[in-house]
Amino acid sequence: DTMIVTIDGPAGVGKSTMARLLAAELGIAYLDTGAMFRAVAWRLGDGVQHWEPGRLEEELGWIEFSLEGSGAETRLRLNRNLVGDEIRTEEVGMWASNVATMLPVRGFLKSAQQNLGQRFSLVAEGRDMGTVVFPDAPHKFFLDADVKVRAKRRYDQLNGMGKPADLKALEASIAKRDEQDRNRAVAPLKPADDAVLVDSSAMTKEQVFARILEVVKG
Ligand code: C5P
Repeated sequence: DTMIVTIDGPAGVGKSTMARLLAAELGIAYLDTGAMFRAVAWRLGDGVQHWEPGRLEEELGWIEFSLEGSGAETRLRLNRNLVGDEIRTEEVGMWASNVATMLPVRGFLKSAQQNLGQRFSLVAEGRDMGTVVFPDAPHKFFLDADVKVRAKRRYDQLNGMGKPADLKALEASIAKRDEQDRNRAVAPLKPADDAVLVDSSAMTKEQVFARILEVVKG
């Protein structure tokens, strides 16, 4: 049997960082499901909202995700291609949030994620890991932080990747994306009933990780 830990929360709250750290500690893979939504949005392109349903189903049928490696070295592929930094802009994040409201896309990615979870032990992070995709996971976390704190963290991260952003515009976009993610009809962003809540607004990375480890290691 595989072991699944879920980490959900809004944009820029540090889910990926925690998932990577925890996966390394446990010697298992991490699954960045936001990257799956971003990669699908990137591949389908901006006009997808206006496609007829048949075309969307067909295009999704050509997509296969695979995972290799573990810990910080975990690699996600869409077909043969490594999912790389091209998807790490707030613009692609917003496209991802748009396609994430579409039922066929959610259904497709849910089964892709569950298939990976049957083959690999995972730290799975996203918006609906604990509520919808892995409801039976033994350990679930919901991270949250003030939107200003999250915008600043994402701003620093983008700067570090050589993709300078405008802090105010980033904060506005993140706030809008959160609202869209929280209020959509399918798989809205919310904590699972049995999730451990961690508000990291005033915590360091090390403190958040220590809290997560304490829960997982019991
Ligand atoms: O986490 P990240 O910012 O990369 O996610 C991009 C978008 O993908 C989110 O704003 C959300 O709309 C969508 N998403 C989702 N369910 C997930 C992961 C991401 O709807 N499990």
